[in-house]
Amino acid sequence: MEHFGWVHCLLGYLYPKLFVMAISLWEQSTYYAPKDVVIIGCGFVGLWTAYELIHKNPQLKITILERGVIPSGASTRNAGFSCFGSVSELMYDVQLMGEANMLETVKMRYDGLQRIQKVFEKTTIDYDEFGGYELFEEAGKYDISKLDKDIAYLNKLLAPVLKTPKKNGKYLPIYSNETKQIKKLGFQKISALAFSPFEGQLNAAKLVLALQQAVQAKGVQILFNTEVKKFKSHKKGVTIKTNLEAPIETKQLLICTNGFAKQLVPSLDVVPARGQVLVTAPIPNLKFKGTFHFDEGFYYFRNVGNRLLLGGARNKDFKNEKTTSLETSKLIQKTLEAFMMNFILPKGSKKPKIELRWSGTMGMGSIKKPIIQELQPNVYCAVRMSGMGVAIAPIVAQKVVQLMKH
Ligand SMILES: Cc1cc2nc3c(=O)[nH]c(=O)nc-3n(C[C@H](O)[C@H](O)[C@H](O)COP(=O)(O)OP(=O)(O)OC[C@H]3O[C@@H](n4cnc5c(N)ncnc54)[C@H](O)[C@@H]3O)c2cc1C
Repeated sequence: MEHFGWVHCLLGYLYPKLFVMAISLWEQSTYYAPKDVVIIGCGFVGLWTAYELIHKNPQLKITILERGVIPSGASTRNAGFSCFGSVSELMYDVQLMGEANMLETVKMRYDGLQRIQKVFEKTTIDYDEFGGYELFEEAGKYDISKLDKDIAYLNKLLAPVLKTPKKNGKYLPIYSNETKQIKKLGFQKISALAFSPFEGQLNAAKLVLALQQAVQAKGVQILFNTEVKKFKSHKKGVTIKTNLEAPIETKQLLICTNGFAKQLVPSLDVVPARGQVLVTAPIPNLKFKGTFHFDEGFYYFRNVGNRLLLGGARNKDFKNEKTTSLETSKLIQKTLEAFMMNFILPKGSKKPKIELRWSGTMGMGSIKKPIIQELQPNVYCAVRMSGMGVAIAPIVAQKVVQLMKH
């Protein structure tokens, strides 16, 4: 028998079809059995969509196909901000895509945050509502003299649409000018500060795991290490080819691959954008808690206990950060470290040890609205989360479910 090894190899080489592994009868009737819905991508969007579908119709046979051994997009590799947009970012978005589009996107993000807190216990996902801040430097792109006017404009426009909690019959404002707090927080070179009490922070991978467990408990199947290579829609549904032994048939297919969307559907307006992060060792007497944005959201940081998590600086090297590579780059990491020492930590602070550095892949495009569409009969997509998928995913899921049959 032992000698059979090389003979087997030779025959396999000469006649590849002879030795193709076949699936068993039992596998055929379970893992490979025809599905009602197949979702590609086990990130927030894929999982929230499975969650919505299975709660609407518990009879549905749903499978999520995920290329990684664990979810391998941005959902477990982000900064865990539960945010909906800072003042300068939203003012920029009005210019980029108009007031109505900005409003619609912010409402989706705000409602998404409410949905997360409704479905999961805060302790399950380490949800803390410390609030979100935006920092402004005197000589920055944003004209600080406009801050109060912009805050008033956004509060008037957004509060009734988002329906913030009411006090004395009036919706609470979303943003306030908290410049007076800068000294207490210890920042350098910062001249103005805006604050929103409605933003929070969480442990992103705990949210992914909680969603995974919630959908699996309802019978949703998740196949990891399964990469979709191509799909073909036909009269009865869609045939999906993966790296597995047999194709999978489904009535409907949903693509939730965000930054990787072009790999399966080249015509989509989604480009990958790498986001890089670093985390320090604990910093004794770290002066702040909360999530912080700077430079229209291109820099962001938060506390994780008494450690600092800092990310961004993609605008320092746009060209090379348009990638799905999960390496970190020296240029961006050095820029983040310089930002930490020159802006975040009090003057004269000792440089903390950097304990972790990582990156993840976001999905960006010409505007910051998600693409929620039927691409061809029975094939849908929900992609382009524009760097804010934590908040927006639950509502993107509800919207794509409205398009699908269930
Ligand atoms: C460093 C960083 C920091 C961020 N910080 C924040 C933040 O603080 N707050 C916030 O709201 N957002 C943040 N984001 C963005 C947020 O993480 C994303 O918007 C969100 O995770 C997108 O979720 P998704 O489900 O659309 O995509 P993903 O989580 O990327 O999931 C897509 C999945 O599809 C899989 N896949 C791809 N192709 C295939 C294929 N052919 N076959 C099978 N599977 C496939 C991938 O492996 C992946 O798991 C950050 C992103 C990064 C990178």
